[in-house]
This record gives sequence, structure tokens and C-alpha cells, in this order.
Amino acid sequence: MKNSNAKESNVITQTDWRLQGQDWLREELLRYERYAPVRHGSEHDHCEFCWVPFRSREVPGTVREGYVTQDRRWICDTCYEAFKLMFEWVLET
Ligand SMILES: [Zn+2]
Repeated sequence: MKNSNAKESNVITQTDWRLQGQDWLREELLRYERYAPVRHGSEHDHCEFCWVPFRSREVPGTVREGYVTQDRRWICDTCYEAFKLMFEWVLET
């Protein structure tokens, strides 16, 4: 019997549930930022992949900072790490 490699199950594949054809995010220029809504009181941004909500205050089940594109689309830490190679993102420094 062939040995299964436990490491392989952690590899992100094209069938990951978070992938919904976000081709518009390919090779985007990203910046790491503390979340801030475009307008005061309109906090309804979420991660483009896993839909975790972004909030400017500490709220359970939400995140306070992440990677943002030039047109203010947000990607959380976890998804950035999971998909950075697949999407070839460029990080602004
Ligand atoms: Zn995410």
C-alpha cells in the first residue's frame, strides 16, 4: 500500500471552498493595514475569500487588520497566506 503523505492534505488546491473564481484579484498590489471603513459607520467589508467580517473595533469572529487592494477589497491574514502563491500578489512596502 502506498504511504499517504500527511503534508499533502494542507496544500491548497483549485477546489478549496474559498475559491470562487476571484480572478480579478490576480497579481493585485496589496497593502497591510488596520481596517477602516470607507465612510464612518459603514463597516460591512469582508474577506474576499472566506467572508470573515472586518471591523475597526475588537469583535469576536471578526478581524481588525488585513491586506487591502487599491480599490479597497479586503483579504484576511489566513487567506493571504493560503493564496499568495496562487494569485501572485505584490505586497506594497
Ligand atoms: Zn479570509
